[in-house]
Amino acid sequence: MEPNQTLALRPRVARNLFLLVWLTLLLLLLSFYLYAGHRAEVAFERNLIHSSTTKALVLDDHIDRSFAGVFSKLVLVQALSEVLPGNPASIDPGELTKLIDEDRSVRSLSLLDRQGKVLASSNPENIGLAVRESIFGFNIDQAAAVDVPAPLLSPVQPYRDIYDLVSQKPSTTQKLMLASLAFKKEGQAMIWVATVNLGLFENLWERLGHHEDTEIALLDYKGKVLLSHHSQEIDQEKLAAELLSRVENRQIGYFNFGKNNQFLVVYRATSQHPKIFVTISNRQVLSAPLIEEKKELLQITLALAGAFSILFWFIYSWYRRYEKAVTYSNNLLRGITAHVMMTRSDLEGSIIEANEPFLTVTGYTLEEVLGKNHRIFNSHMQSAEFYQGLWSTITRGEIWKGTFRNKTKSGHLIWVNATIIPYRDQWGKVLHYTALYSDITKAIEISERFERERKQRESLERINSALRTDLNLDPLTHLANRRGLDQFLEQLQCQPDVADAPISVLMLDLDHFKFVNDTWGHEVGDEVLKELARRWLEQIRSSDMLVRIGGEEFVAVLGRTNQKSAVIVAEKIRVATESMPVTLKRESGILTVPITVSVGIATAPKMTGTDFKQLYRVADEALYEAKRSGRNCVRSRST
Ligand code: GH3
Ligand code: MG
Ligand code: MG
Repeated sequence: MEPNQTLALRPRVARNLFLLVWLTLLLLLLSFYLYAGHRAEVAFERNLIHSSTTKALVLDDHIDRSFAGVFSKLVLVQALSEVLPGNPASIDPGELTKLIDEDRSVRSLSLLDRQGKVLASSNPENIGLAVRESIFGFNIDQAAAVDVPAPLLSPVQPYRDIYDLVSQKPSTTQKLMLASLAFKKEGQAMIWVATVNLGLFENLWERLGHHEDTEIALLDYKGKVLLSHHSQEIDQEKLAAELLSRVENRQIGYFNFGKNNQFLVVYRATSQHPKIFVTISNRQVLSAPLIEEKKELLQITLALAGAFSILFWFIYSWYRRYEKAVTYSNNLLRGITAHVMMTRSDLEGSIIEANEPFLTVTGYTLEEVLGKNHRIFNSHMQSAEFYQGLWSTITRGEIWKGTFRNKTKSGHLIWVNATIIPYRDQWGKVLHYTALYSDITKAIEISERFERERKQRESLERINSALRTDLNLDPLTHLANRRGLDQFLEQLQCQPDVADAPISVLMLDLDHFKFVNDTWGHEVGDEVLKELARRWLEQIRSSDMLVRIGGEEFVAVLGRTNQKSAVIVAEKIRVATESMPVTLKRESGILTVPITVSVGIATAPKMTGTDFKQLYRVADEALYEAKRSGRNCVRSRST
């Protein structure tokens, strides 16, 4: 610490910093969560597109290959029908069967006339049956009028072959699709129809599985759905429109479809055999694992945030304790340095810091003491050994405690109680010395005065006891007599503290004492005098003097006592007399003698030079006044 520096606390800054770091950490965790979630979504999307595209590719290739076979057969038989002379219907069914035998994708190959009547077929069951034109989905005449006709496809039907179709006997297991190629022979429109076996394709589809998450559809180039595995609610018309617009630009591609992009549609169009193959992946279903993954991620993030927060709370609590400790230390330091004098000096004793109380007491300014050696305060009242002891203690790194006298700037001497603490750094090395001092000058002065007073009291007591000789004593009460009083006053004049202070004289006279004598006899009167003398001695200090000056008259001399204090003492004497009647044992029983006293006080401001005769007179006057006022009271006067 540099001079005058306490540990600067900035609680607001520190707390805000804590809050900021904590919030930043939470924000980082949130970012981590969002980023990881985003990465998972991107990966999911990539995988989805990849797997959907692969699936579409496999299925479409398969369909393509099947249709290529079908179409090539149709083209072959159509070419034969056109090229060969004679009625095409006369074609041998055996030849047709042979043509499709090795290819399981075609179930039958039939030749139909303009009315849809089967003229020839690889399956004899079909021959002679008539198929409605609406089944084909196109106009036979129009199709036949095209120069280079392309095979056309009908929607999928739940039948095994044409004979089922005509007799309307649907099959639960088989499906067929009619691939047709129309042509003209000698002005007559005719049509070759191949029934496409979709079973193989269905098998493959089954093997690829996951039907609830991915669906397939086959559309013709007009957007008519030929084959569909739609088990979900998809707006077919909208999908077809979207597909057609996309196929115009690109033959292969994918796009998002449906509410919230629920579906990923992958399409492949082949203009060769005009059809569009589509797989539709349901994101909502497929993303279930992703949602689970994100849930786990959220749990991890929350757990981390919780752990961080707890850790932070611990660190923050630790900081709060530190803050409290520092505040306490700062206050303590402030209090100590305001209360006691403090200096810091380097290892040679040169002052590097001095606090306000120190400067106030020594009378120096800070500039005057900085860099100066402590010797400037040396009063030379301590021995060289004293300082040697001090230095050897603190250079050993130990705390030194002691009392010495210092000199202020004005040359005054002050007593200080000092504690010198070698200041060690965190490694234990002594860097400088801190000294704390209390100014004990006043305390020492007070104790010195008390000591002086004690000594005086002792000497007065000695005087008192010396005066108690027979000559000076009253034989009845053993108090000093008038002679003793004169000697006492002489001694008192020699005590400087007493001589310079006010002095009071109490003149005491018993009330109606004559009556006591007259009633109970002189002896009883004497007993009363002895008892009262004893009681009154208890009411005055040992350095004061009580004197019997004659008969039932007494004088008390109170040194260093002003009028006010004298009245208090006199009152105590009066009360001690009045409150307790003197009791005496007699053969006849206990005799109770009620008695009171009147007191007159005279006070002189200073003992030296006081005319005591005059003082007694004044006290007498006061006594007279007390008597006149009805007795049993105190009256005082000052000269
Ligand atoms: P007051 O209240 O006015 O003082 O009335 P008082 O009766 O006390 O009157 P005063 O002081 O004048 O009387 C003094 C009486 O004290 C006279 C005497 O009888 C009595 N006396 C004086 N010396 C002695 C003594 O040594 N022993 C006894 N027993 N009585 C004394
Ligand atoms: Mg009297
Ligand atoms: Mg009298």
